Amino acid sequence: MMRTHYCGQLNETLADQEITLCGWVHRRRDHGGVIFLDIRDREGLAQVVFDPDRKDTFAMADSVRSEYVVRIRGKVRARPEGAVNPNMASGAIEVLGYELEVLNQAETPPFPLNEYSDVGEETRLRYRFIDLRRPEMAAKLKLRSQITSSVRRYLDENGFLDVETPILTRATPEGARDYLVPSRTHPGHFFALPQSPQLFKQLLMVSGFDRYYQIAKCFRDEDLRADRQPEFTQIDIETSFLDEADIMGLTEGMIRQLFKQVLDVDLGEFPHMTYEEAMRRYGSDKPDLRNPLELVDVADQLAGVEFKVFSGPANDPKGRVAALRVPGGASMPRKQIDDYTKFVGIYGAKGLAYIKVNERAKGLEGLQSPIVKFIPEDNLEVILDRVGAVDGDLVFFGADKAKIVSEALGALRIKLGHDLDLLTSTWAPMWVVDFPMFEESDDGSLSALHHPFTAPKCSPEELQAAPATALSRAYDMVLNGTELGGGSIRIHRKEMQQAVFNILGISPEEQQEKFGFLLDALKFGAPPHGGLAFGLDRLVMLVTGAQSIREVIAFPKTQSAACVMTQAPGLVDSKALRELNIRLREQTKVE
Ligand code: ASP
Repeated sequence: MMRTHYCGQLNETLADQEITLCGWVHRRRDHGGVIFLDIRDREGLAQVVFDPDRKDTFAMADSVRSEYVVRIRGKVRARPEGAVNPNMASGAIEVLGYELEVLNQAETPPFPLNEYSDVGEETRLRYRFIDLRRPEMAAKLKLRSQITSSVRRYLDENGFLDVETPILTRATPEGARDYLVPSRTHPGHFFALPQSPQLFKQLLMVSGFDRYYQIAKCFRDEDLRADRQPEFTQIDIETSFLDEADIMGLTEGMIRQLFKQVLDVDLGEFPHMTYEEAMRRYGSDKPDLRNPLELVDVADQLAGVEFKVFSGPANDPKGRVAALRVPGGASMPRKQIDDYTKFVGIYGAKGLAYIKVNERAKGLEGLQSPIVKFIPEDNLEVILDRVGAVDGDLVFFGADKAKIVSEALGALRIKLGHDLDLLTSTWAPMWVVDFPMFEESDDGSLSALHHPFTAPKCSPEELQAAPATALSRAYDMVLNGTELGGGSIRIHRKEMQQAVFNILGISPEEQQEKFGFLLDALKFGAPPHGGLAFGLDRLVMLVTGAQSIREVIAFPKTQSAACVMTQAPGLVDSKALRELNIRLREQTKVE
């Protein structure tokens, strides 16, 4: 072995011992005849001192530059008093350098690693191999590894088997576009990369492997507006003979243990909330419970007013009128209210009505608002009581289609929580349950809210009679307003699976063509089963406090789904295309 210790592992207990380090020159300083080198490896930094007594070594130390790879033999000694650096793991000691060997030289790096410099993300990604040397980046990847090993340990201890599933496969409908791979041996045919291992893990249940997990790569060709990646990692789990309470309990235990082991945080028991309640109180199916603001329905008080902006949605069965109280918000300047009005516009809200509650005891006089003149005082009083308004508060209103109001006020709630610093805790985990089976689009067609293999809470007949209101046996784990994972009890009978396909408008021929293998499997003794999948990248992002998912992935893609380092995706020569039986359209060729 070339080294005896990692730089970051050196401490007082090694005083007077001879050690050997391998690493990169982080910083070189010349202090009146003495040379200091900070040497860096993945575990941290160590300070090595070279004095002129050893002439050759001193000359060598003088010649090295940033990012040279070196091997150093030396002796650990306590730093003189006053020179201890509490910000460095090895800050109480230094190494007296005896020998220095340059293992490799380095050109000047494209950005400095030993001082903060505001490097654009593009440059960081182009030289990711250098970017990852930065201690912050190394810390995130190390934490990611700790997280996966904690997860594996927990699942192994609970009898789960790690089974790999194919990457070259057929489409798995999780609601995104597929990445396709042309087949050379079957001209004109394509593999799809898995959007998740969903169907394979269900088939493993049919095979009898009643507890499965996999840390699985998934591929979804989505427009990367939000903080998403075209390939990402799931902690994928499936079980047989367990119900939703068992599965939630088991996986909640996994996340609890992980937080304890990695962050020493006790998450406690996760509260459960129905989808209906989450939408009603928080306007979101992944509420951030650290935020105390709540939506309050007030349609009943506004159904009779002349003001159509309120009475319209209040009388529309698909409408919603809700209020959001902002404690102490009465002092909010007009400009800020205008900004929030623009903000809710992103979600389709046409405006943002408000009432400033200056002094309730004064009745109408004490309220400041462009809308109070349209609302009878009695109704106003009920509304203000219902939201719990006290002097100094501001109440926002949303009135529109229910979807728009929930999304707009739900997003406003989150924004206000951050802007006004209202969050009451650091971690707020929860489960959302009782999701609807289907989502209705504007043209009245239904699509699966989770995926089409999710079991409903009712019989096939009841489902067919009233699909739009049917509930599913799905559950999502939410942490701080982020969906950490989601899953469901699956359909394990063929008739039910066909009923769902029918409701989704998939013809019997198409069912057979796309999912024949699943329908077959359900015929041959499929056990009751269910599971879920966690988004590993998002989990690591939350645990590390990273600002973007790209910060916790070693080699991520850019927002436009490309790799600037390897220049992927790349062009392919005409021979390879010919073998694949593919001809590019003229337009594409020119590009
Ligand atoms: N396959 C699902 C997903 O990727 C998770 C699950 O239902 O287990 O979201």
